[in-house]
Parts: sequence; C-alpha cells; structure tokens
Amino acid sequence: MSVTPRGKVVVVGSANVDLVVPVPRHPGGGETVLGGSLARHPGGKGANQAVAAARAGGADTTFLGALGQDESADLLRASLEGAGVRTDLLERVAEPTGTALITVSPDGENAIVVAPGANSLVAVGPEQAERLAVADVVLAQLEIPVEAVAAAAAARRPGALLVLNAAPSRDLPADLWPAVDVLVVNEHEAADLTGDDDAEPSALARLLLERVPAVVITLGGAGSLVAERGGEPVAVPAFPVDPVDTTGAGDTFCGVLAASLAQGSTLVDAARLAAAAGALATTAPGAQESVPTATAVADLVQRHR
Ligand code: ADP
Repeated sequence: MSVTPRGKVVVVGSANVDLVVPVPRHPGGGETVLGGSLARHPGGKGANQAVAAARAGGADTTFLGALGQDESADLLRASLEGAGVRTDLLERVAEPTGTALITVSPDGENAIVVAPGANSLVAVGPEQAERLAVADVVLAQLEIPVEAVAAAAAARRPGALLVLNAAPSRDLPADLWPAVDVLVVNEHEAADLTGDDDAEPSALARLLLERVPAVVITLGGAGSLVAERGGEPVAVPAFPVDPVDTTGAGDTFCGVLAASLAQGSTLVDAARLAAAAGALATTAPGAQESVPTATAVADLVQRHR
C-alpha cells in the first residue's frame, strides 16, 4: 500500500449535536426521570473524525456532510473550522441538524437515541466528486446513507485509499466491500460483520481479510490489532493514560489513522500514532473537545520510545 505523501483527507460522514444529561438511572418505557444539567457538544462520527484528522493528525482535511439551518449547525461548523477543517463541502439542507439524545448514568453508561436529520441527506454530486478525486485518503463511517459512502469511494483517484470505519454496525452492500482498502472496527463491529461472537481478534481479522486487504481492530484500553493480507498481524499496544471519558477515542483513532496514511505512513506506524491520539482523547471529556493537538500526540509518542 502506498500513497503520494501529500496528506489530503476527505471525511464523508455525519455531524450531530450531542445533548447530554446525567441521570440517576436510565428511564424505562413510559417513565420520566429527573436529570442534571444539560450539556451540548459538537459530535457525530464524521465530524469527530474530521476534527481529529486535522487537529491531531495534521492533514489537509475537508468534511463532506450536511447540516440543518439551526443553532446546532452553527455549533458544528464552529467546531470544525476551529480545528482547521475545510467546510466548503458542508451543505445546509432542509432537515434539522442530526441530534443525539444521550443520558449518562452514574456508572458512566450511556443510553443514546440518534435523530439523523440532515445526515440522511448527505450525497455526492459533481462538485463533491471533483474534490474527492484529489484526496489521498477518503475516510467514511456508516451514520450516513451507504449510497453516499459508495459514491465517495467511486469518486476516488486511482491509488487513493478508502478507510472505512464500519460503525455503527449495519450490513455492508456487496459492492462496497471491494472498494475498501482499510477497514477499522472495534471488536463488537468485527463480530457483527463476521457473524462470529466468540472469536479472538486475530481470528476475526483473518475472516475480515478474506473480504478487504487490511483490517484494524481496535480493542479499547488493550490497544489494536493491525492485519494486512500476506503478513502476520501486529498488536499495537495502548498508551498508558488515566481515562476520564472514552467518548471519541475511536473517532480520534480513525481520524489520525487516515491523516497519517495520507502523509505516507505504513498502516502499523499510522496505528501507533492513532493509538497515542486515542489515548489522549480519553483524558478529557467530550468528543471533538477532547481531540488532542498534533504536538501533544508527538510528545506522547516521544516519551514512550
Ligand atoms: P471504540 O470507541 O470505537 O470502541 P476503542 O474503545 O477501541 O474504540 O478505542 C480506539 C483506540 O483508542 C484504541 O485502539 C486505543 O488505541 C485507544 N484507547 C481507547 N481507550 C483507551 C484507554 N482506556 N487507554 C488507552 N488508550 C485507549
């Protein structure tokens, strides 16, 4: 796998505002629970990963997505632009901005309902295709219509990589599999894609390598496993940190992985840098707000040489 090291990433994906309320316990059907103070955070897998590719990964990053015409849209645009993400392919559409309603119980467990809104209108037209054609890496997730992911894949120039974070879990259409260069999944998503709930990560990776040339399985505080066709899987350890909130670790990992690949790194080197960024993201609350700077990532890597 090789790309010209120019470092252009286009992230195709969702943007959500996360509305977060701490609760003594999650409500059941028909029940009302009195919660604590409401917090409003910029989120959505696509926007989180774009912020990570730009701020922590240092890549020239464009976000292709859709927002409504509401205050949530302003919050998301400000967060993306604050991280240095290009937003000229961010459409304003007639649906409300995607919204995640999140309750957090005292043990830290989240219960989440997502109203996709504008995200269901993300599409790749001629203007978007033109910009996708100059990307070194196209990074996508599954919170937008899968047709948009397929169209983004088709618009790539030869040699550009499609990194697909297959989250949240859903069936992939048969014609999308051959377009994927690097599949990034956690253990649950790997189990969902393979239909095998009990397998070890290395066995899951082997099964997934039958369909894609390279797989990264993220394992939370246990690091990740990088597997490429024709080679032995490589375990990439996690960096030791004291996590306070793991929200956004996976997205930060994906964004930095894509940024590093776009700058010409090998997949294993990219996963090491992504692990450092993912670890730092767990040390601060929130998703986009917790994405570290490229300098902080480089410092952490340096300390563990
Ligand atoms: P997801 O949120 O998608 O399930 P993970 O929890 O596997 O993703 O996290 C992605 C990556 O972030 C991990 O592979 C690891 O490198 C890093 N990471 C996550 N949690 C921790 C942690 N507690 N300590 C150190 N690194 C972590």
